[in-house]
Amino acid sequence: MRYSTFGKSGYQVSSLGFGAMNLPSVPLEQAREALNYALDHGINYIDTAAAYRNSEEIIGECISHRRSEYFLATKTGARDYETAKAEIERSLVRMRTDHVDLLQIHYVNNVTEYQKAMAPEGAYKAALEAQREGKVRFIGISGHRPDLLVKWISKGQFSQILFHLNLAQPFALDELIPKATEMDLMKVAMKPLSGGFIQPVDLAIRYPYSQDVHVTISGMVSIKEVQENIAAQEREVGDAERRELEQLAEELGQHNCRRCNYCSCPLEIAIPDVMISSKFRDKFGLLPKGNGFFERQKDKLLGCAEHDPCKVNPLCEPKCPYQLPMQSVIQRAASFY
Ligand code: SF4
Ligand code: SF4
Repeated sequence: MRYSTFGKSGYQVSSLGFGAMNLPSVPLEQAREALNYALDHGINYIDTAAAYRNSEEIIGECISHRRSEYFLATKTGARDYETAKAEIERSLVRMRTDHVDLLQIHYVNNVTEYQKAMAPEGAYKAALEAQREGKVRFIGISGHRPDLLVKWISKGQFSQILFHLNLAQPFALDELIPKATEMDLMKVAMKPLSGGFIQPVDLAIRYPYSQDVHVTISGMVSIKEVQENIAAQEREVGDAERRELEQLAEELGQHNCRRCNYCSCPLEIAIPDVMISSKFRDKFGLLPKGNGFFERQKDKLLGCAEHDPCKVNPLCEPKCPYQLPMQSVIQRAASFY
């Protein structure tokens, strides 16, 4: 396991972080084993959020007795002061601790959301107050729009940034990561498997590992998955491999979808998931979760070509800030059926 100095915190953080989002889906004893195995094998960054069902409670139940062994990161999705304050207090109770190392303003993907959180009576005020009281050590922000995140971190109010970085979504490399490096922020990459969709796991984990980030958080639910993730980071990435991974990411990122979620579809097609995974699906195939997703979307995908209101002008496409051809990608995905 590689360790590096985590921004201005001085903490020596492991290059692999434990993403606890999916722990509520597995039996408690399995979660307990996975978390403790991770700590026993060098992972010292645990990531969760108030919104991840009872993930925080599971962490409290399973590893609060080892609290000094990990950097604990959670998130508040609230945008107003009162709700965020209550959510922070609840996180501490649920995780059986008197402080979290990092509180992130969660899932900020547009200017309106950002302005609400940063308003005088917004969530950021609650984070600052908790920081003054010693309940929160550092404040960060997470989101899916690297182009907006880079502007927001430039204002100097955050110590950490959480962004997606995987072979199908390399967009944080353009401006966000260099800016965060220049500001000596804590850089945390998420979704190396694009939410459990993409494979091969080894390549997918090694790509963010090859880049200028401190931690890659990967969602894990079992000892086997922890072992698999650790194994993918056992060897350092050399220059030749880094170039290969970057070329692959350039190819697989040509869909250009940033997962901003500005688009919507009357048939409820999950457009960003289809956009992001389609090129990957062609080249490598998907993990079972990815295949299951396409199977569940099948009827909706087939419905796209028959949806009368979209026959002349697709309803989704004008909403995309990147002018992406979503209709043709959706209909190509439907052609597999
Ligand atoms: S073109 Fe297809 S994906 Fe886009 S809004 Fe219409 S039905 Fe949905
Ligand atoms: S298709 Fe366009 S609007 Fe939809 S999530 Fe992707 S980038 Fe955003």
